[in-house]
Amino acid sequence: MRAFLDHNATSPLLPAVRAAMIEALALGNPSSIHREGRMARAAVEDARRAVAAFASVDMENVVFTSGATEALNMALQPTADILLVGATEHLAVLDGHGYGASCDRLAVDADGVVCLEALTAALARHAGKRIVVAVQSANNETGAVQPIGEIAALVHGAGGALICDAVQSAGKVDLDAATAGADIIVLSAHKIGGPKGVGALCIRTERAVPTPLLRGGRQERGFRAGTEDVAGIVGFGRAAAEARTLDAVEALRDAFEGALRRLAPDVVVFGGETPRLPNTTCFAIPRLEAQLAIMALDVAGIAASSGSACTSGKVKPSHVLAAMGIDPTLARGAVRISLGRDSTAADTARVIATLNVLLQRARRPRIAA
Ligand code: PLP
Repeated sequence: MRAFLDHNATSPLLPAVRAAMIEALALGNPSSIHREGRMARAAVEDARRAVAAFASVDMENVVFTSGATEALNMALQPTADILLVGATEHLAVLDGHGYGASCDRLAVDADGVVCLEALTAALARHAGKRIVVAVQSANNETGAVQPIGEIAALVHGAGGALICDAVQSAGKVDLDAATAGADIIVLSAHKIGGPKGVGALCIRTERAVPTPLLRGGRQERGFRAGTEDVAGIVGFGRAAAEARTLDAVEALRDAFEGALRRLAPDVVVFGGETPRLPNTTCFAIPRLEAQLAIMALDVAGIAASSGSACTSGKVKPSHVLAAMGIDPTLARGAVRISLGRDSTAADTARVIATLNVLLQRARRPRIAA
């Protein structure tokens, strides 16, 4: 049986979500005024209510999009003079903003946490300007959690606005606590048991106003033109209503890391010294290539990842580990295991057993031909 241990890449569609989506596929166009249209509109607004409750925003402040990438791109079109972004942000932020040269990256420490001194200095450097800051609530590769409350206080003190990519915290930890103080938060349905290709931009205050990327219709209060993905949105709403934290898997993750340290005492756990998502471990064992480990795990029936899904396949070490100052050779060995609510001790034991075989093989002396 396969063990899916790559929940930070995507989480399996929940059965209740699938059932709700299948029903919603037959609905009409929410903009039509006839009965079929009104039924579709009601389904979309029910979903909006569920996502709004999940994100702690008013319903009218949820804008549905084609995913977090679109929502982040939308949130990060120039509405201020300067954009400050964490160095370990997802590429949807680093490559998706429209600020060009008016964007500064904020340094992170060795655990990937934004240096508050660097933020304070950047805010002071740009005093008098309108500033937008984008920092994720937790990192997709390492699970490192950012101190969003403290960051928000500094940003607001300088008159700026804080946009928070909350994709990885949603469905894993308490979302309100993880995003406290943020002016906009961004979510993705497929990280919480919903469908791929749906996300939301949730506006919490008037400090940050997004600029529409898609124009040509009045859908989503003019923020996002185009007929809504009704089934996708319905699925997102259902997933939001079903969302729970993953606090219960923390003990399993910690036990796995203990076993890993016994197997390979020289293992390095990235972000291991800072608060992390309870389901995530990203590690490297010197001399063990990540691609080899991922392939061996796959053959053994385990889905894991090397760095983020978006960059896997590339031999280049991830920008996240590079920003943390990790040696590129070690970073090339980074393996990420991200557990879900159904993950078991048997799953993580299979990972250890597979790594054990690889390490034995690596240690075996080569016989000269
Ligand atoms: N932000 C983070 C932290 C992510 O992990 C991801 C997905 O991998 C995204 C943004 C992009 O989300 P989507 O797949 O909905 O575009």
